[in-house]
Amino acid sequence: MSVPYSIRKQKEEASQELLVGAPVAQRASQKIPLIARSHVSERAMKTLDIVERFVEEECIPADILVQQQVGQGVKERFSAHPPIVDVLKKRAQELGLWNMFLPKNHFKEGAGFSNLEYGLMAEYLGKSLIASEATNCAAPDTGNMEVFAKYGTQEQKDRWLKPLLAGEIRSAFLMTEPDVASSDATNITLNMVKEGNDYILNGSKWWSSGAGDPRCKIYIVMGKSDPNNASVYKQQSVIFVPAETPGITIHRMLSVYGFDDAPHGHGHITFNNVRVPASNMCLGEGRGFEVIQGRLGPGRIHHAMRSIGAAEKALEYFLARINDPKKTPFGKQLHEHGIMMERVARSRIEIDTARLTVLNAALVIDSKDAKAALKEIAEAKVQIPAMALEVIDRAIQAYGGAGVSQDTPLANMWAHGRTMRIVDGPDEVHLMQLAKNENKRGKAMYEKIEWQKRKTDEMAKTFGVTRRDVLQLDREHSKSRL
Ligand SMILES: Cc1cc2nc3c(=O)[nH]c(=O)nc-3n(C[C@H](O)[C@H](O)[C@H](O)COP(=O)(O)OP(=O)(O)OC[C@H]3O[C@@H](n4cnc5c(N)ncnc54)[C@H](O)[C@@H]3O)c2cc1C
Repeated sequence: MSVPYSIRKQKEEASQELLVGAPVAQRASQKIPLIARSHVSERAMKTLDIVERFVEEECIPADILVQQQVGQGVKERFSAHPPIVDVLKKRAQELGLWNMFLPKNHFKEGAGFSNLEYGLMAEYLGKSLIASEATNCAAPDTGNMEVFAKYGTQEQKDRWLKPLLAGEIRSAFLMTEPDVASSDATNITLNMVKEGNDYILNGSKWWSSGAGDPRCKIYIVMGKSDPNNASVYKQQSVIFVPAETPGITIHRMLSVYGFDDAPHGHGHITFNNVRVPASNMCLGEGRGFEVIQGRLGPGRIHHAMRSIGAAEKALEYFLARINDPKKTPFGKQLHEHGIMMERVARSRIEIDTARLTVLNAALVIDSKDAKAALKEIAEAKVQIPAMALEVIDRAIQAYGGAGVSQDTPLANMWAHGRTMRIVDGPDEVHLMQLAKNENKRGKAMYEKIEWQKRKTDEMAKTFGVTRRDVLQLDREHSKSRL
């Protein structure tokens, strides 16, 4: 591919910059929490430092340029192929930063890291708009590649997994529908009817992330294939649908607080008598739930890991703003106002504790599997976006008007972070599941505490102690007044 002069020049300048290096106090490998350190190989530590430099020195400076190269107007923005993305992808491959997300103990196709090691790297990827795609670690492709790797036939893998792993095509995952509450997947209605050797698909999907990108060639679609099955968990199937199949229309793109996320975007798509070969079925008819549950384990914590990085970036912006010598409200720089320093401290505590939650979830997945880590994944899924939103909001506040404008990345980061409380299952669903499991020991806890009370009474008898409330006063008002 020929690289336009402006980008070549930008890249040359970026490599010169690399010699000096962006100013950082400590390398990423030195900041690994002590509790996780023994689980990180030497190779992963080295790679982590390379990821950090690649993100800080090449991706973050390029983020704004990617936005410029996307162009203007809906048609242009959703047929764009920002050339700088390819430059960064090539650079990432040269640096050995490719497909780090596929964990080594479950997949042979990845870069050979554990979920915990990738978690540390994903944090840095989350600081840039483009770093995840540049390293072929971007959603929804990551989860989709896991589906192909885990459930695909050899033919399906050759046709879609190979080009996805090579970063040649992109993909979308189509589950959510506009007319039903899709957080409960038993509600999914897209009609799938078998006709000869094909399935015919009719229905509507929205929030199909990634569908706007012209490189998006394959949709993983959930629909209802057996509406009369006695089990509501066996009525659905997942099928692979090439994006260019006749009968598919992307009507419009959806915005997130006004951001269109082009060229990736979120599509509203209809299926009108879309004919798909039955051999495209994933895993088998009626096994849709198995597929979506298998897909969402590590994927949920990938989002959380990146959100930690977004929070770190917001704190960096916060520190930069409160130390800006040009801004002195009421005669002082912002760091001289106590309230701002308290916010710095709170942000540090919240990010550091949240990171432990994610790394713990990653470690449980590594030591067993995603199913065994449902509690830990749900904890991370709920805690981290809330934390990141709080930290980003503090940074926005410190910037005043600039914070909500296009002059910092903070507004976009907040909008993106806000969606994390909805995507891959809203907070409430995870909280409900967590609470249900926690409450399983509710009866036992009631019985234990009652037992302990009885035991206290017994011990009181044994030791001849008369039980009396130490704050018992027994003061009668009429007597005390005399
Ligand atoms: C930016 C973005 C990207 C997305 N990308 C994709 C994608 O690529 N593919 C895809 O298929 N979908 C995608 N989605 C859709 C997302 O997964 C759904 O929006 C989400 O699952 C919720 O489904 P729903 O919108 O139908 O809301 P509903 O299911 O109607 O839920 C609405 C609200 O009801 C409440 N609620 C739900 N269940 C409970 C409960 N048990 N107890 C109490 N309250 C509850 C929650 O507050 C919830 O937010 C994306 C969404 C966004 C915003």
